[in-house]
Amino acid sequence: MFGLIGHSTSFEIARLKALELGFDHIAGGDFDVWCSAPPQLVEHVEVTSPAGITIQGAYIDSCFVPEMLSRFKTARRKVLNAMELAQKKGINITALGGFTSIIFENFNLLQHRTIRNTILEWQRFTTGNTHTAWVICRQVENNAPTLGIDLRSAKVAVVGATGDIGSAVCRWLKARTGVGELLLVARQQQPLIDLQSELKGGRILALGKALAEADVVIWVASMPRTLEIDHNSLRKPCLMIDGGYPKNLDSKVAGGDIHVLKGGIVEFCRDIGWSMMAIAEMEKPQRQMFACFAEAMLLEFEHHHTNFSWGRNNITLEKMDLIGAASVRHGFSTLNLKTNLQAAA
Ligand code: NDP
Repeated sequence: MFGLIGHSTSFEIARLKALELGFDHIAGGDFDVWCSAPPQLVEHVEVTSPAGITIQGAYIDSCFVPEMLSRFKTARRKVLNAMELAQKKGINITALGGFTSIIFENFNLLQHRTIRNTILEWQRFTTGNTHTAWVICRQVENNAPTLGIDLRSAKVAVVGATGDIGSAVCRWLKARTGVGELLLVARQQQPLIDLQSELKGGRILALGKALAEADVVIWVASMPRTLEIDHNSLRKPCLMIDGGYPKNLDSKVAGGDIHVLKGGIVEFCRDIGWSMMAIAEMEKPQRQMFACFAEAMLLEFEHHHTNFSWGRNNITLEKMDLIGAASVRHGFSTLNLKTNLQAAA
């Protein structure tokens, strides 16, 4: 069985969803009640891949909402409790979705292996970042030509280049895609210098300068709420892949030959019959999902029960090849820009 750990995008939406699901006692509770609410296994699903393999899955809502991020202990407890529930339910491989993987990594939850009388077995969990990185790279390769951008001569800015996903994306674009030039953006200089030396290439630039030069921008950092982007300073056409969470680039810059695509999203080849992706505001919630969630499904389809994506900067090209091939084999496709024809329909 595969598992997905997720959460609602806001406290308000979480309460509405709880009401809809019949969890009235939580739905009516105030923020403090939500802070102490346990995780809930809200849905079971069955999925059959085009390869004819059927798997079972479960969605666990961690009862975390982004408003809790400032409450360090609450956020930590929410993630660990959801992981404990997944393990107790006997789920083989569970993806940490949304903020839960960021909390796991940034709050160093590896140190907190024992939850009450359960010792968490790390091999049952994956961040899903390998599949996310592969999907983002394929989105660049598929969509840049649609806009007339020749990747062999294009400048591609990676915002969040030193992160787990960003560094994997840089490795792939350099070695496999062969882009014109990589522009490396992050706040801390030393990791950027280390990445540049690992890649044997790429130019380190401040955000504003990189955005002004880039034909393609890959955003794989959580965007500060206050960040303003000057639409006029961007190249046109420009392909922007919004791989961060939450996804809010389109509201800031889309339009006038700036094309924003939701990054790290895949579509399954048939309706799944679940309701969980409606929470994540997917355009086609019956088929579309975060690539990190899909990674847990892929690992279950492949009977590959291991923490495939784990820790920071461990994603290799070989692992991306492996999960990418499984993604295609089991009926997933990457989200692409709508053509004029589709947009008009
Ligand atoms: P990491 O924490 O490993 O990396 C974050 C990167 O962003 C680092 O390079 C960091 O470097 C950089 N960064 C952070 N803030 C800024 C800033 N203000 N300006 C420039 N760079 C910045 O994260 P992951 O690689 O695990 O995840 C990256 C993003 O992808 C997250 O937003 C996450 O939510 C999202 N994600 C999306 C998924 C999907 O849509 N399917 C699945 C999984 C993750 P520095 O600190 O030096 O600035």
